[in-house]
Amino acid sequence: MDEFEVIRRYFQDLTPSDTSVALGIGDDCCLLNPEPGRQLAMSTDTLLAGRHFLASQDAADIAYKSLAVSLSDLAAMGARPRWFSLALTLPKVEEAWLEKFALGLAECAQRFAVSLVGGDTTRGPLAVTINIIGSVVPGQASRRDGAKPGDLICVTGTLGDAALALSLIREKSGRKPVESAQLAFLESRLHRPTPRLEEGLALAAFASAAIDLSDGLAGDLGHVLRQSRCGALLYEQSFPQSPAFSALTREDQRTAMQTRGGDDYELCICLPRKHFDSALALCPCGLSIVGEIEAEAGLRLQTATGDKIALPAHGYRHFE
Ligand code: ADP
Ligand code: MG
Repeated sequence: MDEFEVIRRYFQDLTPSDTSVALGIGDDCCLLNPEPGRQLAMSTDTLLAGRHFLASQDAADIAYKSLAVSLSDLAAMGARPRWFSLALTLPKVEEAWLEKFALGLAECAQRFAVSLVGGDTTRGPLAVTINIIGSVVPGQASRRDGAKPGDLICVTGTLGDAALALSLIREKSGRKPVESAQLAFLESRLHRPTPRLEEGLALAAFASAAIDLSDGLAGDLGHVLRQSRCGALLYEQSFPQSPAFSALTREDQRTAMQTRGGDDYELCICLPRKHFDSALALCPCGLSIVGEIEAEAGLRLQTATGDKIALPAHGYRHFE
């Protein structure tokens, strides 16, 4: 099967007949109709086999996660998803694998109402690049550079589930068996993250700054702090935990997993205290206050005993 057959068989049908897509897959470019009076928000992410996922992982999960991760960037900006393109690099054409991949992609695309409109298909080590486009009301996107001293730092959902799943998968052998429903929950948090799109859209009205958590709270909040020229204090006691996380982490690993663990894909939102109750009401997945923006540069952690310790504000770095 050549690349054109791959495109026709697995991806062409994913383009819907939607009035926003004047021309979809099959020409040199797609033609898109943006909503009048809106700004476009665009983001690109690459997931590499062996780095962001294992090549042996379920192909449907690889596709689902690749798209979910891109959607999470739109969620952070408060943008509504519209279209995406897929650049897929494959070592070989394996029909069963491609079928699963296309199913996982379609599932995520349908759930979050975003349309595949183009891409590229090449041979090489397995890699998935998604370019995604959303729309925002001009001036209302939640950027990284607007946090102010006194703002609350809030996160949606729970932290550390994906990091715990990864560590449990890695040390599976020889340890006491883990309750399967809890492990399944943690693995779904790792393999099929939920982009917080509704929350991101709703919270854009209150947020002074926002970012999605892909590389751990400390590192990602660090980007907000640098771009907003301020510092922060985090409260160790208030990091939100899922029941599975509380049950299965070792106490001495909790804070590291919740501040340095990647792949949460929750939103970290800074907002003035007076807006917190309204913001909470708009977050069915939960919204927890985890800290406060301070004028003094740097990131600090207030521990359970009330001590304040410095926390390095960086996450994973590809070229370190
Ligand atoms: P070009 O030679 O103009 O780069 P290609 O031969 O790469 O075009 O692709 C043909 C058409 O198929 C284009 O419309 C492109 O956007 C689309 N396409 C290629 N690969 C994919 C893919 N993996 N998923 C969706 N659309 C794709
Ligand atoms: Mg091409």
